[in-house]
Amino acid sequence: MRAELVSYRDLASGVRHFVFESAEIDGAAFQPGQFVSFSETIGEKRITRAYSIVSPAIVDHRFELCLNVVDDGRMSPLLFRMQPGESIDMKGPLGGFVLKQPVSDCIFIATGTGIAPIRSMLLSLPEPAARRHILLFGARYRSGLYYWDDLKDLPIDIWPTLTRSDADWTGRTGWVQQHLDEAIGERRDWHFYICGLKAMVDDVRARLKAMGFDRKQITYEKFD
Ligand SMILES: Cc1cc2nc3c(=O)[nH]c(=O)nc-3n(C[C@H](O)[C@H](O)[C@H](O)COP(=O)(O)OP(=O)(O)OC[C@H]3O[C@@H](n4cnc5c(N)ncnc54)[C@H](O)[C@@H]3O)c2cc1C
Repeated sequence: MRAELVSYRDLASGVRHFVFESAEIDGAAFQPGQFVSFSETIGEKRITRAYSIVSPAIVDHRFELCLNVVDDGRMSPLLFRMQPGESIDMKGPLGGFVLKQPVSDCIFIATGTGIAPIRSMLLSLPEPAARRHILLFGARYRSGLYYWDDLKDLPIDIWPTLTRSDADWTGRTGWVQQHLDEAIGERRDWHFYICGLKAMVDDVRARLKAMGFDRKQITYEKFD
């Protein structure tokens, strides 16, 4: 399967929103939270990397991604050099990081581009106002709260937290982990969706386990 780059726009320095199109992609098979995998031969090696779909649906064979460039990485700099009209080998949609049905009250936890599959889920929630949902969204700076304009008006509680806040930031500060207890309260019937780099995901899972949550209540995706 090939995916052609249609357009892109920068969300912040080193972070980009991509629109791809693939005539062969099966949009009906997509579940919010899933990813595509891109493959390219670099030198003599075949490199394959996963990228979560950030859009809530695949419409007209188009899907959207959100990437941060890893400067000394192999695949991400290549994708940042791509121009509209160029294409790459792909597979997908793939993966089991999807909403468990029926959707219960949930706490979503994302850092950085880990918001990608969670944005896809949040924008496709069947009845967001009928349930209690909390999004704990962590970034270094305010500019790292990607897709804020799409998320801020959703009928869910959104708790952004910054580790390096600007002087005029009056919201939460510190890691997402520091706000977990307050989000959970006394309830033990939440379902958790966690996405980001391994260190955060593993730490949140360990804390939830220590609080008595069952692993069936925790769905997660690690980017590294
Ligand atoms: C299921 C899944 C979904 C993913 N979805 C996304 C996504 O939506 N957006 C996205 O930007 N990445 C995503 N990734 C990460 C992506 O697949 C690549 O690992 C990333 O682009 C780095 O690849 P690279 O070849 O450029 O670097 P590599 O040559 O593979 O490695 C460079 C280093 O970068 C680290 N790294 C990996 N991912 C990141 C990251 N996101 N930020 C900082 N450091 C990282 C690795 O630990 C490694 O040490 C996802 C990974 C998985 C497994």
